[in-house]
Amino acid sequence: MTASLSIHPAVDDGVTPGDANFAGGRLMCKCADNPVTVEIKGNSAHNHLCGCTKCWKPQGALFAMVAVVPRENVTVTANADKLQVVDESATIQRHACRVCGVHMFGRIENRNHPFYGLDFIHTELSSENGWAAPGFAAFVSSVIESGADPAQMPQIRARLRELGLEPYDCLSPELMDLIASHTAKSRQAAAA
Ligand SMILES: [Zn+2]
Ligand SMILES: [Zn+2]
Repeated sequence: MTASLSIHPAVDDGVTPGDANFAGGRLMCKCADNPVTVEIKGNSAHNHLCGCTKCWKPQGALFAMVAVVPRENVTVTANADKLQVVDESATIQRHACRVCGVHMFGRIENRNHPFYGLDFIHTELSSENGWAAPGFAAFVSSVIESGADPAQMPQIRARLRELGLEPYDCLSPELMDLIASHTAKSRQAAAA
């Protein structure tokens, strides 16, 4: 039964471990002509599956796969003119290819945001091997908002656990702690 579920093409046949010495690679959109290319220096971090409705997902997949890299390590190297921000009002400004719709990188412009300085990328857009493997699944319940049958949720969570991707309905405890620490520090700074 679980075999019929497409969690995400990058993990459906099992999670491929990353390479600690991976030096980075090139992301490419899905356009056959003049694809947008983005060079990433170094490996990604905090790679995970995301069930939210805003992250770009490949066709038929229940989840997106998204990781972060320092923003200074992200360089658009071709066809930058095809990029546009999907939703200017969103916290993460997702720069997508206007022709094929693929999100090439997401950037936070609010300097007070806990994740400011990190860009969000989809490493599956690169043909290189060695990118950090996904480690958990975030915003799992949100796949219902994208059309998943609520009755399927136990099966979806069981499949994620089978793949070693612990399902969370927000971010992982590690990232939630990071956000809370940032909030606590900003409050202390404001009170001082
Ligand atoms: Zn494109
Ligand atoms: Zn998301």
